[in-house]
Amino acid sequence: MNDPQTGLNLGASAPLVTPLFQSAVYSIPSLDACDAIYAGQPGYIYARDAHPNARRLGALLAAEEGAAWGVVTSSGMAALSALMLPFLQSGDRILASNRLYGRTNQLFNLELARFGVTTQFVDCNDLEAVAVGLSHGPKILLVETISNPLLRVVDIPALAKQCRAAECLLVVDNTFASPAVCRPLELGADLVMESLTKIISGHSDVTLGLIAGNDPELLPRLAQTVTIWGFASNPFDCWLTERGLETMRLRVNAACANAQKAAMWLGQTPGVSRVLYPGCPIHPDHRIAQQILRDGFGHMLAFELAEGREAVNRFIRQAPGIPFCPSLGHTSTTLSHPASTSHRSSSPADRLNQGITDGLIRLSVGSEPWEVLESELRKGLAQ
Ligand code: PLP
Repeated sequence: MNDPQTGLNLGASAPLVTPLFQSAVYSIPSLDACDAIYAGQPGYIYARDAHPNARRLGALLAAEEGAAWGVVTSSGMAALSALMLPFLQSGDRILASNRLYGRTNQLFNLELARFGVTTQFVDCNDLEAVAVGLSHGPKILLVETISNPLLRVVDIPALAKQCRAAECLLVVDNTFASPAVCRPLELGADLVMESLTKIISGHSDVTLGLIAGNDPELLPRLAQTVTIWGFASNPFDCWLTERGLETMRLRVNAACANAQKAAMWLGQTPGVSRVLYPGCPIHPDHRIAQQILRDGFGHMLAFELAEGREAVNRFIRQAPGIPFCPSLGHTSTTLSHPASTSHRSSSPADRLNQGITDGLIRLSVGSEPWEVLESELRKGLAQ
């Protein structure tokens, strides 16, 4: 039988792959049907409110996160904005890790500050400092599972316990880990967010974000914020991300194995003064990483070249197979220079204070064969 909308005849068959519903609006057969959809019956009206590719992707990602529900947004920053807006009003406080993605800091300092929301930044690896921060009554504590660019790992179960006692929502940005390596909701977080732009979609051709949680009361508030503030996703990016998700575990596992090898290899290479990887026993958070990360210690790694900025420039010129591009999560290894990109707006003194030197390189390790990566690292480090 022909589909009345498209005229296509699929007979008894069904597509193996989720179709792309590239439609901004849906036609509704009657006013009664329209009322039923608004009342929560299956169906779609307008893509900014909901569309099938986002619903499907949200459900698949919720399963990955061990969540009851997942809402897809137009970017990771849209997810973070949508996570803040429903829970805050003028005069409220946020507690945040002092090791966050630069744009997240700007969301607090440049945007939410204009609405009278103040943010206190604390070292979330110092549970006493967190306890003091929580005593001032913040509504939300935001941390990153693995921080950018120094790859510090926070004790999510301990933070969750503290937040529960203080009636503060614990929100975890899990972008550097991905649900293949950490599931913050199972460790006690209230809400998790991911930049799907990174290793979950995995091919550097999508910009999307995710919010996932278990509390059914939070879902309508977040969904309303996504709809009204216009943080909705587009169908094609959701479709591409669903395709990327099929290989997420394979890519993440291979990338984690490569990152562990690269960390060991770099640690024995002349000219490399420091290697930061949670899988190394000398990493300050190795113990907690062993407890909360699974199937590897993530695909992100940082190392420092003793000769500083010039040595980084040389590495970039000599290792074209590890492109300098300030994102992460690509299929093959890419490089970023935090002092020039993510932490460019921090003062040099602030950067040094945090340990972000001009010689620091951040690698997003990919899933290429180890020999290919090793050969490229050798080229980059050759004098
Ligand atoms: N959180 C972290 C840790 C990130 O690294 C990024 C982007 O680099 C974001 C959030 C924002 O994600 P998006 O670029 O998809 O808006």
